[in-house]
Amino acid sequence: MELVINHTKISKAECPMRIYLEDIEKVEKENNPAFEKGKVWHTLLEQFWQRIGTEEEVFDKKNERKLIKDKARKMFYNAESFAIHAVKQWNKVIRADFISRKKLDDIVNINHLSEEERKKIKKLKERVIIWNSKDEKYKITGHFNKNSRLLYDYFLEEGKPLDLEGNLIEPEREFNFKLRNAIKKGGEVIQTLIINGRIDQVRFVDGVLTLVDYKSGNPWRPANEAEFNYQLPLYVLGFLAKCKHDRDYAKRFGREKIIDGFLKSFFIDETIQVRYFMIEALSVRERANELLSAGIKPDFEIPEVTHTRKVTEENFYDLIDKMEGTRRNVVEGNIYKARGMRCNYCPVRRTCDSINTPKDRLPYTDKNGNRVFHFSEPPYRIEVQENPELHYMGRLEETSEEITNPPQKVIAWGGGKNVLRGRIPKILN
Ligand code: SF4
Repeated sequence: MELVINHTKISKAECPMRIYLEDIEKVEKENNPAFEKGKVWHTLLEQFWQRIGTEEEVFDKKNERKLIKDKARKMFYNAESFAIHAVKQWNKVIRADFISRKKLDDIVNINHLSEEERKKIKKLKERVIIWNSKDEKYKITGHFNKNSRLLYDYFLEEGKPLDLEGNLIEPEREFNFKLRNAIKKGGEVIQTLIINGRIDQVRFVDGVLTLVDYKSGNPWRPANEAEFNYQLPLYVLGFLAKCKHDRDYAKRFGREKIIDGFLKSFFIDETIQVRYFMIEALSVRERANELLSAGIKPDFEIPEVTHTRKVTEENFYDLIDKMEGTRRNVVEGNIYKARGMRCNYCPVRRTCDSINTPKDRLPYTDKNGNRVFHFSEPPYRIEVQENPELHYMGRLEETSEEITNPPQKVIAWGGGKNVLRGRIPKILN
């Protein structure tokens, strides 16, 4: 058995429609502003303690070239200069988007495209940002300007993240581990466990080892807590995998004694906690404080900046069950949209928004314009009998309804290329 756990897999596990569109329909994936905004924040924050310096260091050009190479160049020295730095990083994204669009415009007008040009178009399309409104990019500029100032002060008050020996903890940027022979509860062996992702910050909070993830979207806690919970095990697995590969690293966090049990007797070290840091909550709270000090009661809920969660072994098994369950749903044709915060980052969102599912009670069409419906027995059975009084109208009366929950096929038909799909799509075999 091979198991891959990463952010994409987790997001897909939460939404059968995303699996269907990405893996079966293979619709074109699109880049979205929320995703780009998140990337800029992650880079800014993971470099925060390396990039902060004195005013002299920031303006010292002498060693600039060498320092850029070392990624040690000091970029800011106060809240104002951090905001300038943050906005600059965001402007780079706007510029890159502009260039990609221009390149795309130039290439799509070519008459007979070579294979290479087609590939280039595909790549450019994935890179171009689909803005939700004309002024969205400028609104995000304002978001960086405001929140980076507040974040700077927050970080300085919170202090550097230090390990048990008092050394600065470097951010665990991207991790990618391939682990062999992990044993699940009950003895089943996962021959290859692939874990990849990122941890924005590792720090001790009141003596508890805490893995921090910065969230740059909606600062209000999602109504559906599960959306948070499925992500929890990923960070702990990534951290423990790093400890297993690097004993010195494990020692810095006091994990050298327990790490041998990882994958043999446990997947999750339950003494570790995960913290979600809602960046935008800082500015919402500031706004609320301004209103309160002017004697006005805010007409919105004041969000918390951090949400800290314990992570348990159960969270890991819940995640696996969820991944398998959603996959099974898609195979059996039970495809529905699981709306939530995840939609902001979804690369197939526009396609998803443009189609209907059986749950919307409207015909659902695939990308070829074929109508799609669930075939075989209906998911319910209605017994009917004639009502003699209404006989002259030929009406029937419903008497009972029974859920049958039958296996189903997804059939695409009519309107487009008349594709007939088998019960188990190839990609999911
Ligand atoms: S937009 Fe939301 S509901 Fe639609 S496929 Fe993406 S994650 Fe699922």
